[in-house]
Formats: sequence, structure tokens, C-alpha cells
Amino acid sequence: MKRVYILSSHPLFGKCIETLLGKEAQIQIVGHQKDPDLAMEHIRALQPDVVIVDSNDSETNRGKIIVQVMKEGLKTRVVGLSLRDNSALVCDGEQKTVEALDDFVNMITSGYGVVKESASASPPNTVTQDGYGRTLDYLRISVTDRCNLRCVYCMPPEGVPAKPREAILHSEEIARVVEAAAGIGFRSIRITGGEPLLRKNIVGLVRRIATIPGIDEVTMTTNATLLSAFARDLADAGLKRVNISLDSLRPERFRRITRTGNLESARHGIAAAEAAGLTPLKINMVVIQGFNDDEVPEMARLTLDHPWHVRFIEVMPVAGVFDWGADWPGVNARLITAGEIQQRLQTLGTLVPDGGPRGHGPARYYRLPNAQGTIGFISPISEHYCASCNRLRLTADGYLRSCLFADQGVHCKAALADGASLSTLQSLIRRAAESKPPQRPSYAEIAVRGAAMSLIGG
Ligand code: SAM
Ligand code: SF4
Repeated sequence: MKRVYILSSHPLFGKCIETLLGKEAQIQIVGHQKDPDLAMEHIRALQPDVVIVDSNDSETNRGKIIVQVMKEGLKTRVVGLSLRDNSALVCDGEQKTVEALDDFVNMITSGYGVVKESASASPPNTVTQDGYGRTLDYLRISVTDRCNLRCVYCMPPEGVPAKPREAILHSEEIARVVEAAAGIGFRSIRITGGEPLLRKNIVGLVRRIATIPGIDEVTMTTNATLLSAFARDLADAGLKRVNISLDSLRPERFRRITRTGNLESARHGIAAAEAAGLTPLKINMVVIQGFNDDEVPEMARLTLDHPWHVRFIEVMPVAGVFDWGADWPGVNARLITAGEIQQRLQTLGTLVPDGGPRGHGPARYYRLPNAQGTIGFISPISEHYCASCNRLRLTADGYLRSCLFADQGVHCKAALADGASLSTLQSLIRRAAESKPPQRPSYAEIAVRGAAMSLIGG
């Protein structure tokens, strides 16, 4: 017996549905409402199997319910039905043409993705664009919210409460999302975290993702402290290269900024990554005024003797980690802009603009005279590069987040658990893409609302 909720201003709409479906489908109408906001409250409480929205009332009602149900990750499926011309239905946000009552009964009684596509449906679109014409081809996946370090700018000393294991996506679920994404134009996957190397069988997950047709490259962002044990196997599994977070070359400072980390183990990780061919290496340094900014020239000079791409990142405000302790620079004094960093590096010689390594990032690259590697600047605060943003993020608990700084997106864990088809997942990915804002919120807003980097993956 399917539990059905009705959203219609017409009191007889539900009765008509019952009569229409009659013997064909076992349904029980569990509620009827004409106001979409009230209906949403009931849907949350009742969790019906299906919501049928009267399409003759308002397209907006239907849209509202579909977006909200998907956003909240409810298992309820939404079908828009026009009784006036009972041919056009909307299911999971996609237009379907229904030629016979059977098709509609199928929608009500079956799981995701079983509805027959109409013969006239246009061929699948293999590119994903957001509402502002940006093409998205890069998916960053946080595979765990756990970390072995406690970097001051990322986490409070006690860490962030870990999500229960059952809330975290299984490897097969992650692979399904990647498979769906690959079908609509995503080509590049970055594995991140938390610390991705803490995830059980991370090598198996990388291998699985690397073999998905359409995926050109799988890369990883890691703090490298566990990398020496994994580098070779990861490379064999198909990982192309790694980005390594390294904020200081001084052991004491490294420990202070990571609260628990050991610089030596990170250095071993870097060496192992090079030996395994996980190159070109990118080294990311979050620059904090009055703490490690004096090491900027030393870091930049690494590019003279190593084919590394050393990138300086502006520290971003993250809600919940404002108070780093008394002996740290205050919030407003911490930021040193990419422009200022670049200015300081002029003492090392002329920085010549450079194409930098192949990649998807927003960094601007330069090269010192005769250097093997390049210097990059990533300036999410002082300049934004939203116009060229090409990415979506999948959080460890299955939220397709459209912007690092804004909480817009679509939950997909429930749909995955429900055995969602690739086309349903693709609809969810496109919906997440459509929710992408034109540009990030203001600094003040980020500072108040920014979410845990470890769950999102940076
Ligand atoms: N644990 C891995 C690591 O540290 O490389 C991957 C996850 S970490 C969240 C990803 C990236 O986010 C790191 O390069 C880290 O430096 C960056 N990050 C985290 N919090 C940040 C902040 N408040 N400002 C700037 N970058 C930040
Ligand atoms: Fe862990 Fe990376 Fe966050 Fe540091 S930046 S606490 S290593 S997730």
C-alpha cells in the first residue's frame, strides 16, 4: 500500500486520483492540503511515499515541493499531475510524457527511475551547466569528515563531532554518483576530506572511481602525514597526483598549527608521493599574518630546486573556529592578501606569469627566474573567481553542495539508499548545479555561516 499525499486546491482532486487509480494501484491518501508550505510541514511529518501535486493549480507549487523534498533528502517522490490533459507529468523534476494510465500507476507504485521515457524525449544532454552558463566538469568529494590533525583554521581543538557511520556515503554510493556525473560531463574528481587517507579502503575507492568511463583523472588533497604508507598503492590504483597542505617548514610551528601533527611524517609523505609519480605535486600553504607569513619566501624558494607548484592561500573565515587561543593574531589581523604576498616575493626576483600545471583550480601562477616549479596564488577573499567556477562538491554525508561558501545544494543520500537510477542521480546533480549562486556571499556572511571545511572538503 503506497501512502499518497495530495496538494491541490480542489477538494475532489484526491478522490479523482483514487478513482482513477482504482484497482490498478494500492494507495492510501494520508493527507490533502492546498497550501504548499503547510503541505511541506505535513510531508516532513508523515513521510508519504508519493506527493501528487495538482499541476493545474500552479507550476510554482509543484516546483517548490520538488525542490524542498530533494533538498531535505526525503524519500518521498513527487509527481505533478494535470487532470485536465492527463498527459504531462513531472517526476523527480523531469518532464515525462504519459500515454497510458499504466505509466502513471508505475510512477506511483515503483521506485526511482522505472518510468518509461517518452519516445519523443530529447537525447540525454552530456554537459552540465548551471543557471549562469558555467560548465561544470569537476567534482570534489569529501570521503570522510574525520581527521588526524586539528588545524586551527579548520577545526576546533576537540575536532568537529563526527557524523555517525551510517550517515556517511558507502564506497558504492560514491561510485554511483561519480558514474552519474561522468554521464553528464564531469571529467575530473578530487578526493578530499577530512583526511581522506583515514577512510577505510581508500585505495579500493580510488581504483573503483578511476575505472569509471568518462573520468579523465582522479586526484587527492591530503595533509600527507599518512601518505608514505599509501602513495605507491594509490598510484597503482589510478590516482594521478596529490595536493599537499603544508603550512610551515618548522617542526614546532607545524605542530602548533595542526595541534597534533608531525612535520617529519608530512615530509616522508611528500617524498613517497614523488617516488610514486603522484606528480606534479602542489603544495598548499594557508598564510596567516603574524604566524607563518615570514616563511613565504622560504616556501617560494622551494620551487627553485623542486618541480613543485607552491600555492599561497588566503585564510578563510570558518564559522566555529574563530577563537584559536590568546597567542594567535586576531580574526581581522590574520588575513594577508594574495596581492600582499606577491608584493613581498618581488625581493626574490621578477615573477613571470606562467600557465602553471594542468588543473582545474583558480590559482594564478608565476615562475621565479630559472625555477623548476611555479608559485601560485589562491585568493578566495580578496578577489573572487566565481565567474569561472566549474565545480560541485559532494560532502561525506551525501550533500551535493554547489558553493564552498553557501549552503545551497541537494541531498542525495536518501535517493542513493533507495537505489536511485543513474538518470535520477543526474537530475539531482543538475538540480544542484542549478542552485549554484552567481558568486559567493560577502565576507561578513561567510564568517557567520561558513560550514565545517572537513565535511565539505575545502
Ligand atoms: N585534510 C586534507 C588537507 O588538509 O589537505 C584535505 C581536507 S582540507 C579541508 C582541504 C584544504 O582546505 C586544505 O588545503 C586546507 O588547508 C584548506 N582549508 C581548510 N580550512 C581553511 C581555511 N579556513 N582557510 C583556507 N583554507 C582552508
Ligand atoms: Fe584536517 Fe585538512 Fe582540516 Fe587540517 S585542513 S584539520 S588536515 S581536514
